[in-house]
Amino acid sequence: MEINNKDTKILISGAGLCGSLLGLRLAQRGYKVDILEKRPDMRSQQVDGGRSINLALSDRGLKGLKLVGLEEKVKDLCIPMHGRLIHNIDGSTFTSNYSGREGEYINSISREELNKLLLDEADKYDDVQIDFNDEVLHVDLENTTITYHDSESNEEKTWKADLIFGADGAGSAVRKAMVRQRDFLFSHSIEWLPHGYKELSIPPAEDGSWRIEKNALHIWPRGGFMLIALPNLDGSFTLTLFLDYKSKEGPSFEDLKNDRSVIEFFNTYFSDVVPHIPDLVEQFNNNPTPPLGTIKCNPWDAYGKSLLIGDAAHAIVPFYGQGMNASFEDVVDFDLTLDRNKYWSKAFSDFAETRKPNTDAIADLALDNFIEMRDSVANSDFKKKRQIEMLLESHFAKEEYQSKYSLVTFPVEGISYREAMLQGRAQDRAILYLLKENIISPEDHENDLLFEISRKTKDILWFRN
Ligand SMILES: Cc1cc2nc3c(=O)[nH]c(=O)nc-3n(C[C@H](O)[C@H](O)[C@H](O)COP(=O)(O)OP(=O)(O)OC[C@H]3O[C@@H](n4cnc5c(N)ncnc54)[C@H](O)[C@@H]3O)c2cc1C
Repeated sequence: MEINNKDTKILISGAGLCGSLLGLRLAQRGYKVDILEKRPDMRSQQVDGGRSINLALSDRGLKGLKLVGLEEKVKDLCIPMHGRLIHNIDGSTFTSNYSGREGEYINSISREELNKLLLDEADKYDDVQIDFNDEVLHVDLENTTITYHDSESNEEKTWKADLIFGADGAGSAVRKAMVRQRDFLFSHSIEWLPHGYKELSIPPAEDGSWRIEKNALHIWPRGGFMLIALPNLDGSFTLTLFLDYKSKEGPSFEDLKNDRSVIEFFNTYFSDVVPHIPDLVEQFNNNPTPPLGTIKCNPWDAYGKSLLIGDAAHAIVPFYGQGMNASFEDVVDFDLTLDRNKYWSKAFSDFAETRKPNTDAIADLALDNFIEMRDSVANSDFKKKRQIEMLLESHFAKEEYQSKYSLVTFPVEGISYREAMLQGRAQDRAILYLLKENIISPEDHENDLLFEISRKTKDILWFRN
């Protein structure tokens, strides 16, 4: 099938963040798109999202929104977060900025409001049809037919498309079909963390303002576990506790089975949060404790007619705040793939092959960042490293120096996740080595620091190759 044939019938499974952005973009390119979404329409009904009420949106995700012309509209939904505000166990705090450069920050955004915006924009196109409450049950990849539950008739129905996109998240029905239809080789893995997460909420102050610093991502790092908080537009904060389900070495969800143990746990480790959540125990008991995992699979395309995209292809743990950003960047990359190919089948395999090394990289970086957030942010070498990174970023152009965090989050045009990972990890190792050997210190002149760090980084990269 040729890409320039606009009569191609496209079906997308899932109208979440990635599916609705993809549907919108394909409609802008002139295609007829049908989207099946298993949940109700969140614009008219309360939908229990079940996970992460707010998200950190940064440059890679913003690029996806810019592609469809939503860069300005989305700003109204964003709260800038300039850095991490770290809460020590004794109640003292300190700030660690995300960048040494002006105007570089991440944004807290409501998952629901962002999804609604994308659905509204997609709905403006006559060629987009979104059917809610319709769950994809089975997919025949070879014949591109989908069996779904039609909520209007309450019957199972079949749909024949020319192309199928699986944008149906970590539990993707399209990916499950790829696992089943083993006449092409399909590898897949899910790696669970021993930790689960629980969301809690700090309500707005009486006057509607924010009870703790609004423009920061708050972290309470406690070694093997941590609590984080992101601000919402209504003055509230969404807190997420990341904790082992079961542990011999420290506290775990298993230990928090009664009200007294919950209060004791929070009073011991997060005493400054307790006064802000009057119904802490109630929230703790009522909210679910979902697991966290990394999904990798290969290939993302089947028979040249189906493609996985977003979390369906590469769900990652949330510690770099990049899952949605990566899914939006998928759409940007895929859009470019369409420009350089003539046939859909070639575009699918081209995208799958070139994109996967990058999503593998951000999956690994996200796991690394858990250790950094729950542990290292409070350690003295890490603080010195960040001081040096801020100094260099404030003095030099992006092309000369970007920290690993900046390479991932505020990349110079064209820097992929994989390049960010290789360069960033080498730089981190270089700085930590030079600090340990007393070759550099945060008090040194920025030119000397840049010289030493660049030289050591090059050595590390050279040895790797
Ligand atoms: C705790 C937590 C915090 C996070 N924080 C961040 C963050 O700060 N920044 C960030 O960038 N990312 C973050 N993420 C990751 C982000 O949520 C995901 O990467 C993003 O939602 C992926 O979008 P998606 O559309 O691919 O999948 P989803 O958002 O999961 O959407 C999939 C859609 O498909 C629908 N669906 C599923 N199965 C079917 C079916 N069989 N038939 C029809 N429809 C179906 C679902 O109802 C859903 O609407 C976080 C994730 C978690 C769990």
